[in-house]
Amino acid sequence: MEKLSSPRRTKEIVNKYGFRFSKSLGQNFLIDENIILKIIEGSEIKKDDFIIEVGPGIGTLTQYLAEAAKKVLAIEIDKKLIPVLDETLGSYSNVEIINSDVLDLDLKKMVLDKFCGEKVKVVANLPYYVTTPIIMKFLEEEVPVKDIVVMVQKEVADRIKAKPNTKDYGSLSVAVQYYCKPEIVTKVPKSVFIPNPNVESTVIRLKVLDNPQVEVIDRKVFHRVVRASFAKRRKTLLNSLSFSNLGLNKDQIKEILACCNIDPKRRGESLDIEEFAVLSNYISKIV
Ligand code: SAM
Repeated sequence: MEKLSSPRRTKEIVNKYGFRFSKSLGQNFLIDENIILKIIEGSEIKKDDFIIEVGPGIGTLTQYLAEAAKKVLAIEIDKKLIPVLDETLGSYSNVEIINSDVLDLDLKKMVLDKFCGEKVKVVANLPYYVTTPIIMKFLEEEVPVKDIVVMVQKEVADRIKAKPNTKDYGSLSVAVQYYCKPEIVTKVPKSVFIPNPNVESTVIRLKVLDNPQVEVIDRKVFHRVVRASFAKRRKTLLNSLSFSNLGLNKDQIKEILACCNIDPKRRGESLDIEEFAVLSNYISKIV
């Protein structure tokens, strides 16, 4: 059977169902087999792997996932695509489609029910309007995930993998690197999608660590401290943290930074994840 990755076949399916692409749902479908093969290769999928795909679209990437893995659970928000998927994936007995907004699902419970709690791989060409909430949902809700391999906007991939003292380093870098080791799989041109998006893309692999990179007393406080430190990039840490919602005044922040051996004149972007952990652990004890 001809794969959906051929532009001709994709157009045929789109026309048959009178499907109209929704910009607001981030619908840019892949029409290039080389990129799909790079995603599959970058995910190092084995025959016994369980996969969650967010946003299968018309099922293009799903077909390759189904052939490589044991089972694929594909979550698609757009109900107009469900009859399409029934046709394009009908011959794959190891694919299950769920019509839902992924953000509304209890994913931890779903992995328990569908995959007996075995660790899964998340592989997807994500809808760009909601990339960060989807990635953070898998990480923060402690869904048993071993790997996340996703197509994202190039700028988001740059931010995720950024190191301290660079322009891309920010709260997203720290939040993701707390849970994962990011690596770039491949850069992706606009021409491999239909319709073409306005932005360049990157496939990024997030290898989920067995334990978070640093030990923190209270994850919520850690994330609040990180966000507050980056809220005003040009301000010193002393000012950013004093005027944040942490409820600590300037004298208190001065004392905390001194105890943590952190120069109050430094900016948030210069702290590495270990320093954020030390700082937030100290703050956790008093807020
Ligand atoms: N996987 C297909 C491909 O590569 O050709 C389609 C990828 S397209 C970039 C993103 C897909 O995610 C669309 O099918 C869109 O309808 C779906 N989507 C958007 N928001 C979603 C959400 N909150 N939950 C689940 N699916 C969503």
